[in-house]
Amino acid sequence: MKKRKKRAKKGEPQTITKAVTHIRLEATNPGKLTALDTLAEVYLELTQQYTTLFCTAELPNSFRAPCFLTSLSERWHRVAIQHGAGIAKSWRSNRANAYQDYLDALTEYQEQQADGTLEEGTKEPEWREWNIPTLRQPCIQANGNVIKLEEAQDSTFDYWLKFSTLDKGNPLLIPVKLADYHQEQLTDPETGKQRKINRSVTLNRQENAWWLTLTYDETVVVQTEPNAPVIGIDVGIANFVTTSDGKTYGSFNGRLRERQKRDREKRRRKAKLRKCLEKRGVPKEKLPSTSSATGQRLIRHVKQSINRAVNLCFEEHEGCQFAYEQLSVASMRYKASVMNAYMRASHLAHIPDQITWNATKRGIQATRVKSAYSSQECHVCHYADRRNRPNQQTFCCRVCGHTAHADKNASQNIASRLGDQELRACQNRQEVKALLIRRHEQWKQHVSLVVVQAPVQLDLWASSKTSTDVG
Ligand SMILES: [Zn+2]
Repeated sequence: MKKRKKRAKKGEPQTITKAVTHIRLEATNPGKLTALDTLAEVYLELTQQYTTLFCTAELPNSFRAPCFLTSLSERWHRVAIQHGAGIAKSWRSNRANAYQDYLDALTEYQEQQADGTLEEGTKEPEWREWNIPTLRQPCIQANGNVIKLEEAQDSTFDYWLKFSTLDKGNPLLIPVKLADYHQEQLTDPETGKQRKINRSVTLNRQENAWWLTLTYDETVVVQTEPNAPVIGIDVGIANFVTTSDGKTYGSFNGRLRERQKRDREKRRRKAKLRKCLEKRGVPKEKLPSTSSATGQRLIRHVKQSINRAVNLCFEEHEGCQFAYEQLSVASMRYKASVMNAYMRASHLAHIPDQITWNATKRGIQATRVKSAYSSQECHVCHYADRRNRPNQQTFCCRVCGHTAHADKNASQNIASRLGDQELRACQNRQEVKALLIRRHEQWKQHVSLVVVQAPVQLDLWASSKTSTDVG
């Protein structure tokens, strides 16, 4: 089951759209599926044209007037425009985020260069322009104007999928049979009634079969009290999750790491073989593939371990609310600075996703906060310096001497960043850094008052504070 979340304002009930996937379209009449194939081919081509247009020449616009020739009906044409606009929109925003990450990484690089903490062999980050998305697998995201899901009466099937084809005026009916677990998913456990299925459906062609995805909406109310204790979550490799109360959940090290090493070796050997065969002129389609089945299994396994870790973390913190990092690709790369950074970074990204999902489905408040310098900042005096981390596990503040497990210090920073409006208003890393420097200066002044001034004066200071409170 896939899940998607619509953004709701803090405290408001959230609507989550849940998907019922892998409903195979039965080939009772192969001619019907062939008609769908033909339609999909034309649809794919047209969607690609709009995707390219919206990624390059124009801003994505779902309601753009048709501008390409096609044999599809006007309604299908509009669906393709919407689909292309959707793809282009997320491509553009992902690209913009990646570019911001690149700028952040560059700033970080320059900072390290300036204070001489650049590790030997570190390369200056480079920006490589993204390719325009290429649609390969036929996928149709259709609304009720072109595909209708109708309940089947007096039939062994559950629904009919009625859709218009290239042959105008001759809609096709494809039977849909739901498995028991699909039926169960589509039944509201509280009322025992069938849930309302959304009008838009998705059709995917994979491995020579057509698969239908249905969706339904569910409303979840956030149950968390506004003053519930805040638990900060730090995300990492050594510990998937470290909470600000010092607990840890799951790890990439140990067994998972061993498995990944073996898998890497295997892929390296395969790549070598590929190169060798390529040189001998073996055609591309006959070369062994570089993606390995064990690799896929490993990825699934890592994701399962992450899911378990996040689940347990939520179970052990009943009645709390959570603060977690808005991880960027750059900070993930930093956290996964060892080998295979990219692969690990992709797994790391699964952790915040799981936190979001767990919070949403349980009706718990979880707030994302800025991650800049959260692992370098001292929780006590706000002094931020890479050198506060003598090694991956240890945090030891160079100014105040505060020592803690690095992940715990970070998770405590994350916890206090919830509701920190000043920090939230910062636009980039430099502004965060400037704010932390100001706070560190304030801390120093405060401490100098406490430490340097004589006890008598300290008493005066304390009582004067009290008196102003009263007055
Ligand atoms: Zn400190």
